Amino acid sequence: MRFKDLVVFTLLFAVTAQSNAIEMDSGVPGLQAESLRKDQKYLDRLFFDKNETHAKTKGVLGFSGAVNAESLQAWLNERVALVISESMDLEKSILVAPGKARYPEPKVLPKPDRSNVKPKPSSGGQGGSEPVLVMSNTGAALYMLAKQNQVLLALKQTNGKPFPLVSPREGVIQIGKGLFLEKFRVNPETQDHPANSLSRLSTLFHEARHSDGHGATLGFPHAICPEDHSYAGHPACDKNLNGPYTIGAQVLGSLVEACADCSTKEKTILKAIEADSRSRVLKVFKDPSGKTLHAGMWSDRPERMISFVRDSGHGLE
Ligand SMILES: [Zn+2]
Repeated sequence: MRFKDLVVFTLLFAVTAQSNAIEMDSGVPGLQAESLRKDQKYLDRLFFDKNETHAKTKGVLGFSGAVNAESLQAWLNERVALVISESMDLEKSILVAPGKARYPEPKVLPKPDRSNVKPKPSSGGQGGSEPVLVMSNTGAALYMLAKQNQVLLALKQTNGKPFPLVSPREGVIQIGKGLFLEKFRVNPETQDHPANSLSRLSTLFHEARHSDGHGATLGFPHAICPEDHSYAGHPACDKNLNGPYTIGAQVLGSLVEACADCSTKEKTILKAIEADSRSRVLKVFKDPSGKTLHAGMWSDRPERMISFVRDSGHGLE
C-alpha cells in the first residue's frame, strides 16, 4: 500500500465515545451482522460453573474474577470495537491524518518469523479451491502500518465517519464469507445453530487476541509451523502459551462445557476444533541457531499512539 494513493483528510477528533457494544459497519451484510449479534446474545445466556476448564480460561485471559458471560464479553469489548466486511475496499477506505504521530517503542516492531520449511500444500482443499476470508484483525495490521510511517490512520466507515486507529485495542475485525460457509459449520442445518455460534465466538476470541501486545509482540503475531507439523511452513502456529490459538482453544473449551444446547456429536466436532488450535501452540521450539526454547506467556499490555500533532501545529491527544 502506498501512502500517496491514500486520501488525506482532516481528522476531527470528535473523540469517539467508546460504547461497550461491538459496532457493525453498515457494509456488513445483514444476515452476517444478525448472526454475530445472535452469537453475542447466545454467549450472554451461557452459564459457567466453577470447573477446571474455566479456571484455565481465566488464567490465559488474565481475569481476576470468575469466567462468566459478562467477563468474557468485557474481554472481547476491550479488544474489538468495529466489525467490517470483506467487501470494504481498504485501499480506498484508509485516511491519513496530515501531521506527525508519536508511538511508544517507535523502532520496535514484530520480526517476521524466519524459517526454511517449505509450505506444505493445504490438505483440506478439494482441488484448488480459492482461499476464503474467515476473519482477520485488520485494525492491528493498520496500526502497525501507521506506526512504521509515524502517521495517524483512520478507517472511513461505510457511513462516512472516520474511525481513528489509535490503538489495536480499538480493534477492527474484518469478516468474510468463510465464517458462515455451510461446509465449515459444525452443524450444517442453520447458520445460527448454537454449535455454529460457539465456533464463530472462538474465532472472534482468537482474532481479539491480535489486538494485544507491544513492541516485538505487537499483535501477537503467529510463527511458522515446523517441518513435522500438519501446517508446516505456514504462519499458523504460536510460540507462546497465551496467544490467539491458545485463547481460541481455551475459550472454546469453556463454551462447549457450558453449552446445554449442543449435541454429543457437535461437542465432539467442537472439541476437534479445539484440539486443532492447541496443536498449533509450540510449547518447545528451536531458535534460528538451533537452540531449544520453551514457550512462555507474553505480556498482553497493548500499544497506543502517544500523541498526534497536526501539520498546522495544533496538538491533539
Ligand atoms: Zn491469528
